[in-house]
Amino acid sequence: RRSIGQLVREGERSISFEFMPPKDEAGVEQLWSAIRDLEPYQPTFVSVTYGAGGTTRDTTVAITGRIARETSMRAMGHLTCVGHTREELSDILEAYRAAGVRDVLALRGDPKEGPTAPWTPTPGGFTYASELVALAQEVGGFSIGVAAFPEGHPSAESKDADARVLVAKAEAGAQFAVTQLFFRAADYADLVARVRALGCDIPILPGIMPITNLRQVARMAELSGAVLPDEVSARFDGLTEPADVRRVGVEVATELCQQVLALGAPGLHFYTLNRSRATLEIFEALRITA
Ligand code: FAD
Repeated sequence: RRSIGQLVREGERSISFEFMPPKDEAGVEQLWSAIRDLEPYQPTFVSVTYGAGGTTRDTTVAITGRIARETSMRAMGHLTCVGHTREELSDILEAYRAAGVRDVLALRGDPKEGPTAPWTPTPGGFTYASELVALAQEVGGFSIGVAAFPEGHPSAESKDADARVLVAKAEAGAQFAVTQLFFRAADYADLVARVRALGCDIPILPGIMPITNLRQVARMAELSGAVLPDEVSARFDGLTEPADVRRVGVEVATELCQQVLALGAPGLHFYTLNRSRATLEIFEALRITA
């Protein structure tokens, strides 16, 4: 079985979609409607996030397993170290395996105060995502992805130190990376260049988050530490109609997709927020067909 990393390397252009565990019945319906809308595009994989602080442990495993079993798509489950001992992480990896999931995105996760708050390790647990990568390797049979940060991780010492962290994750066994959302193609190019300069050729998929409303932007910045550059926020200035915000959001994301692909990105990873519409509009603009 080829790893997602191999598929990304070998394919012409990878497409992938990220989903979140739904909170209620209506959310379940919305998720499955998005899944069915996007499935015809035959993504390389889709992924399901692991709720902050491990709050969605069972639902993430269950939903990822259901996508893997009930759709034609390869489903990757996210996993974070927050609040878990090594034994628990090992059990969750086994639960993924039992659910039919063999792809994991190995993450550290954030303290509940946010991405820049000091990290307090769980006794018997891990401090860095690279340790979780090594554990998944040891448990065996998993294809492993990791996070990367075009603007640098908010608590990283420097962008160079952050690039070394990604290389360490690759050396521990990660076969590909997905980036945090970002808005400047130059930041993506800069990250790739730093990692390549260290002699590491891990494929790095750019994570694309289309802005569909202005409230979402503030929330997103708070969660990820990513900043909306002035030249991007200026494009939303004076827009009051939700439809106009959406249209400009799709335009901005489409341009970013074009720019990163021109820079040689091996694919596009979409943060869907469990909705298909913005992604489908970007596909239309990019002339990507099902
Ligand atoms: P790490 O790689 O461990 O890095 C964390 C920090 O430690 C960085 O500042 C890094 O520079 C530093 N560091 C790492 N190793 C070393 C070392 N050896 N020495 C010194 N410093 C080091 N969060 C969730 O809760 N659930 C999710 O499902 C989720 N999905 C995500 C998906 C993607 C694609 C991305 C980009 C992020 C996701 N996150 C998720 C957020 C992620 O958990 C946070 O960004 C977290 O702060 C960093 O995780 P990491 O895996 O990159 O950690």
